Amino acid sequence: MKPRITVIGSLNMDMVIQIDSFPLPGQTVLGGNLDYIPGGKGANQAVAAARLKGDVALIGKVGTDAFGQVLLDNLLKNGVDVSAVKRENVSSGVALITVTPSGENQIVVSPGANSLVNADFVQEHENTIRSAQVLLLQLETPLAAVKRAVELAKEAGVLVILNPAPAQALPESLLNQVDVLTPNETELSILSGVPVQNMVEVYTASRILLEKGTKCVVTTLGDKGAFLCSPNINVLIPGYSVKAIDTTAAGDSFTAALAVAVAQGKPLPKAVKFANKVGALTVTKKGAQPSLPLLDEVEKYPF
Ligand code: ATP
Repeated sequence: MKPRITVIGSLNMDMVIQIDSFPLPGQTVLGGNLDYIPGGKGANQAVAAARLKGDVALIGKVGTDAFGQVLLDNLLKNGVDVSAVKRENVSSGVALITVTPSGENQIVVSPGANSLVNADFVQEHENTIRSAQVLLLQLETPLAAVKRAVELAKEAGVLVILNPAPAQALPESLLNQVDVLTPNETELSILSGVPVQNMVEVYTASRILLEKGTKCVVTTLGDKGAFLCSPNINVLIPGYSVKAIDTTAAGDSFTAALAVAVAQGKPLPKAVKFANKVGALTVTKKGAQPSLPLLDEVEKYPF
């Protein structure tokens, strides 16, 4: 049986330019060619989970513009169920991304149709949520929709994984319904309200979130791997050494891999190890969705 995962989230057309260094405020820099690459955290996580052989449905919205069709076609090509992706008479979400030779990125998002994903729309698709083993969410769609989806999942006993990106503070009433939270260090700091600059601070901040009711916090630490913190496990699961080309979607592939592994019944330390491997492979290729590995590639990779 394939692990059943429902993702609620954004679909964006990523417009990517390679540059030598980021412009300062008021400065213009020349970059390379413009690439159009399907992205958005919801779509990225849905495609990532489908490529890892998950049975994946996405709940979200695109526009009636040309980008909307491209985004839908791309999901279908990757085997994602798009029956809960609605087209609205507005622009599709767009992300403007610049990437430097070291693989660092800067991203500006225009949410477009994603901003119309509301609690009522989520309610219309409650069966898609209730029938999943894992519900996977991010914060690129309105918080009211995220909250309603989490409530529906909890009522049905569906495990909730929240990737709290882009960073924003969240109410305790939401945090206490999350089974696994997957922040990076910046997001962890904003959610916990304390600085996060070393491992002791990662631990302290994670414990603050456990006290707010989150069952488990898995903080992604780039090439260092991830720190797993639950009431009875506190452990750094080391990352894999690879040549980073572009870190776009590393967090998305990590979270999706974690969802697949948890839905398969893997214990959390093993699930995080698998997610580290998938995240590492993602940074070895350019772009968001084109860099998401297939399960065969992950299993074949010599580490
Ligand atoms: P992004 O916003 O670029 O998607 P993020 O900040 O959400 O990324 P990261 O912590 O950078 O998330 O990366 C997620 C996971 O991907 C890490 O926990 C790790 O497993 C893997 N990873 C990221 N960068 C590297 C790297 N340079 N080498 C090996 N693994 C990496």
